[in-house]
Amino acid sequence: MAAGFVDTARISVHAGKGGNGAVAFHREKYVAAGGPDGGDGGAGGDIVLQVNDSMSTLMDFRYKRKYVAENGADGQGSRKNGRGGKALVIRVPRGTLVRDAETNEIIRDMSDGEPFVLCKGGRGGWGNAHFATPTRQVPRFAKAGLEGESHDVIFELKLLADVGLIGFPNVGKSTLLSVVSKAQPKIANYHFTTLFPNLGVVYVNEEMSFVMADIPGIIEGASEGAGLGHDFLRHVDRCRLLVHVVDVSGSEGRDPVEDFDAINTELAGWSPELASRPQIVVANKTDIMADESLLEALRAHVEPLGFPLFALSAASHTGTRELVQKIAEKLAELPPVKVYEPTFVPRAPVLEADEPLEIELLDDVWYVSGKWLERLMANVNFSDYESRMFFDKALRDNGVFAQLEERGVKDGDTIDLYGLQFEYQR
Ligand code: GDP
Ligand code: MG
Repeated sequence: MAAGFVDTARISVHAGKGGNGAVAFHREKYVAAGGPDGGDGGAGGDIVLQVNDSMSTLMDFRYKRKYVAENGADGQGSRKNGRGGKALVIRVPRGTLVRDAETNEIIRDMSDGEPFVLCKGGRGGWGNAHFATPTRQVPRFAKAGLEGESHDVIFELKLLADVGLIGFPNVGKSTLLSVVSKAQPKIANYHFTTLFPNLGVVYVNEEMSFVMADIPGIIEGASEGAGLGHDFLRHVDRCRLLVHVVDVSGSEGRDPVEDFDAINTELAGWSPELASRPQIVVANKTDIMADESLLEALRAHVEPLGFPLFALSAASHTGTRELVQKIAEKLAELPPVKVYEPTFVPRAPVLEADEPLEIELLDDVWYVSGKWLERLMANVNFSDYESRMFFDKALRDNGVFAQLEERGVKDGDTIDLYGLQFEYQR
């Protein structure tokens, strides 16, 4: 139906696994057995999202749905650390909302130019060089690298535009955009011409410009899913101001008042909040207007409702400058474009009975390992306080501290979780 235009996509991403630590021993001609010198594994590559302004749809994600970043290389002898895996950068159109596929919670709104690390690569495992102590000269173990984070996410494109053009197909929306900006949308005298939203920058003066979006035609019944509506209404969601274009020429036998109401009913059906967004009404095609009664009927209908009306002809460029001025004035009074706050709360994996933790005491250090712990650690950013609190709570909630105490861990003992060492405190 909306052929070629894709504004939602579900993909799965997987950051790279950390490389394994090496078990190796230093060799020299006259030394029988040297010290341990196995290097650490490299960290796995991150999955990074980055806005790309030359993209305006999520079409690419229809063909490629799985994204895996490079693994870290294993450590080697002579204390050679493994190379880190390369980050995988996924480019998305500006305004892409990233949601958790299971809960639909918002992870990130890709509106600014900042790159966003969606999944962290796994930590590299320590080589045996790390485990040499005065009493244990020959550590024959190293640690495996950790899994990278993975996530199933939904991308939802909500274009970033100050102004959204709305109105029935063929009323002159694309023409208007092409006249007031440098955008070159397709203009044709048939319905449903615009299948991709077009963005144009409108220069008002040296200090002021704004972004206008030509939203593909809304058809009657669209808010009930009857037509193209849902896909396209999504894009006006963020617009600060709607410019509602109506054909008052009567050339297609349309009734401007009915058209105006029909579109607003569609908007309200989709979102009452959207329907109450400020609107400027454009009465277009005045150059071929047979009689003024249609225009006057529209004016008499919308002005009492508080909508300013501009009669103009986009095709012959008359009245468009005044419209741009009015839009600029109105925008100056309105709040900035909406940015969605994240609502996603990471949940800790649950420790199942069939995947026990391994707890081993080696030279006064308690080493804890296990698949569950790997998964948990893949989700924690240890440089972030809240993340560390989340980690601490997950350990407590899953009975890890209780298990440690059962094994005889006491206050002040050193605990090692894949290289993360801390002093145990009840
Ligand atoms: P959209 O579907 O709302 O984007 O409409 P378009 O911009 O593609 O225009 C549909 C048709 O109306 C095209 O043939 C345009 O040339 C024509 N049109 C647009 N604006 C005007 C106008 O002001 N006067 C006249 N006479 N025709 C116009
Ligand atoms: Mg169009």
